[in-house]
Amino acid sequence: MSPSIVRREVLCKSILGKTGIRGFDYCINPYTGCSHGCHYCYASFMSRFSNHREKWGYFVDIKINAAYILSKQLKSRKKPGGKVLIGTVTDAYQPDEARYKVTRSILELLADYQMLEVHILTKSALVKRDISILSQLNMCKAGFSITTMNPKIARILEPGASLPQMRISAAKELAKAGIPVWVFISPVLPGITDTEEALSSLLYTLHESGINEIMTDFLNPYSGVVRRLKYIYRRYLPDAVPVLNEYLVNPDIYKESTEYRINRLINRY
Ligand code: SF4
Repeated sequence: MSPSIVRREVLCKSILGKTGIRGFDYCINPYTGCSHGCHYCYASFMSRFSNHREKWGYFVDIKINAAYILSKQLKSRKKPGGKVLIGTVTDAYQPDEARYKVTRSILELLADYQMLEVHILTKSALVKRDISILSQLNMCKAGFSITTMNPKIARILEPGASLPQMRISAAKELAKAGIPVWVFISPVLPGITDTEEALSSLLYTLHESGINEIMTDFLNPYSGVVRRLKYIYRRYLPDAVPVLNEYLVNPDIYKESTEYRINRLINRY
C-alpha cells in the first residue's frame, strides 16, 4: 500500500524568487512538494533541500501566506517588469490547489499588478478553473507537460496528475479563451514514450487539437531520478529496461536518433 500524502500549512518568507531558467527572470512556487509524484521529476531534490523525511510525491507544504508576501514583494520592487514562471519545482495546480487556492490568489494579485509576464507549466486540468483570471493578465502563456497519450503508462509514470486527455481538453479550453498554450513533451522516456507509435499518437493528437507550439526534452539522468525510474521500469515496463540502459550509457547517440524521429513525425503532422 502507498503511504498517504503528508500536508502541512506553512508560512513562507519570500514567494517571488529569481530563477536561472533560460528565458525567465523570476519563479513562483506556491507549494513545496508535489503530489503528482512523477517518477522522473527532477524537482525531487526538494525533499532533501526542504528537510522532508517523506518520499517525493508524498508531502505537500501549502504556502498559505503566499499572496500576502507577494503583495509586499510587488510593492517594494525597483524594476517592475520581467517574466515569471509559476511552477518550477512544483505543480501550481496539483490537487490541493482545488481547496487552498494559493495559486489563484497569486494570479489575482498579478492581474492587478499587470507588470509581469506570467507563464505557467502544469500537468493538471484544474488550471481551467482560473481562465477568467488568466485572461485578465497583461500577458499569460500556459504550458502543459505531456509525455504520452497512453493513460495506463501515464498513471504509472505520473500517478497523481490529470490524465493526458484531460490536459489536452484543458489546453483547448484555454486556447479558446484566447490564452496562448503550448505543450512540453518532457522527458522523452527511453523505450516507453519514444517509440514511433507513442510519438505518433501524441503528435497526431496535438495536431488535431490545434496545438502548434511544442518543445521536447530528454531525461535528466540525476542519480536519484535514475534510481527511482529503474525501479518503475523493472516493475511495470521490463521490456524497456535495455533501452533505458542504452540511453544512460550513450545519451548522445540516443538523443540524435530520437530527435531525428521526432522531427520526422512533426513534419508529417
Ligand atoms: S508535476 Fe512536475 S513538479 Fe510535480 S511531480 Fe510531476 S514533474 Fe515534478
